[in-house]
Amino acid sequence: MARYTDPVCKLCRNEGAKLFLKGSRCYTTKCAIERRRYGPGQHGQARKKHSEYALQLREKQKVRRTYGLLEKQFAAYYKVASAQKKVPTGLKILQLCEARLDNLVHKSGMVPSRAQGRQLIAHGHFTVDGKKVYSPSIQLKPGQVVSVAENSKKLIKGIIEANPAPLAPNWISADLDSLKTSIIQAPPREELDGTIKEALIVEYYSRR
Ligand code: SF4
Repeated sequence: MARYTDPVCKLCRNEGAKLFLKGSRCYTTKCAIERRRYGPGQHGQARKKHSEYALQLREKQKVRRTYGLLEKQFAAYYKVASAQKKVPTGLKILQLCEARLDNLVHKSGMVPSRAQGRQLIAHGHFTVDGKKVYSPSIQLKPGQVVSVAENSKKLIKGIIEANPAPLAPNWISADLDSLKTSIIQAPPREELDGTIKEALIVEYYSRR
């Protein structure tokens, strides 16, 4: 599978926003964007005037990179979101990203970043409803229980101790003693990142 291998802080500096890709370092003064809040490279500090299309593209890239998704995966979420009518399309895209297994193990506080979550899931360190899983993209439904595999408990406890995480959001139930987590309900908009302008993402895909 295609993988981004350049320094990830460059992605944040490109987007001019913290995407929280490096775990606990993102919450310290070592964060690259705290020190240099402008784009990387020779023209990083040049003033830029963005077209409407460029704004839509940047917002889409920002969210896609935050969740560590390939273009194909993210476009597929748009397709699913626009095909349903219950929830506004933009919010549904975010809910689909949030319901991923790699996101849940990260937001519960078990691992410091989605990238690390993906790696640990692929190596079989987690179970869903008691069954070992290997796919970080699994869509979880409310009530499904994600646990740490028996032989991996020591490893994950060590990661938690080394990386104290912010409290899990209200829509997630997380018990870091028993190493279990689940989604209580799909996250309402007010519980998600207020800086995301999901309408721009919908506009980006609907004009294609
Ligand atoms: Fe982004 Fe984290 Fe790097 Fe800061 S430390 S620039 S938030 S990946």
